[in-house]
Parts: sequence; structure tokens; C-alpha cells
Amino acid sequence: MALFDPKTKNIAQLQKSIDDKNASIVRYFDEIGRLYYGQYKDPAADVSKDINARCDAISKLYLDIEAQKLKILFEKGLKLCVNCKKENPLEHAFCAACGNKFPEGSDKHVDIPNAECTNCPDGPINAEEAPVTEVSPKTE
Ligand SMILES: [Zn+2]
Repeated sequence: MALFDPKTKNIAQLQKSIDDKNASIVRYFDEIGRLYYGQYKDPAADVSKDINARCDAISKLYLDIEAQKLKILFEKGLKLCVNCKKENPLEHAFCAACGNKFPEGSDKHVDIPNAECTNCPDGPINAEEAPVTEVSPKTE
């Protein structure tokens, strides 16, 4: 009997997406290792751009995963305190552990910190610019 309610389905999809992203991160780390080794074998080869592109992509994936974890918590009726990282029921106005005040509407939608930060000192994270797909076609 497959009696999936929408929440369960949502959570499963989010979890699947997180798993995919973690697999991508592993692949990028693997490629970075190969690139670095290529540099070691041929000091004239400049692979820093290729390595940086993958590091940027990994950073973005980490942010996406954090955001999706928050969405899973939300589906479960929970939210995370930004101060102490303790899980709280959505209806809490203050964190049960540290008393930190939750932002207005934190029971209605997911607050994703740094998700669309374009003001970071290093500039926006632009994964699209990373030429990662050229070297790494999505063949599992
Ligand atoms: Zn707290």
C-alpha cells in the first residue's frame, strides 16, 4: 500500500536531490584531485581556473544542500535556530534552547540564509560560469 501524503513525497524528493548533490560534490573533489595531479606531472599546465571552477561549484552545492535540509525540516514542522542550530517547532516565536527570536513569518516559509547572496566579498557564486560540464559529462 503506497499511501504517500504530499509531505512524505516532498521530503523524499528533497532527500533524493541532496543525495544527487552529494554525489556531484564527490565527483568534483575527484576531478580536483586529478587536475592537481596533472599540474604536479606538468608544472607548466595551469589548472587553477579549472580547480577554482569546481571549488565554486562545490560551495554552491553545499549552500543548496543546507537550504534543502531546511526545507525538509519545514515539511516535518520544524525550523532551525540560526543562533544555536537547535530544531524548534514551526510555531515557536523564540528558540526553546537559547531564547533567540525567530524572524516574523518563520512558521510560514523557509528562511534560507545566504541563498542568494550577491554581496559577498568574493562576489556572487556563479556556478553557470564554471566549465565543469565540459570535462564532466553527466554520465554516471
Ligand atoms: Zn537557539
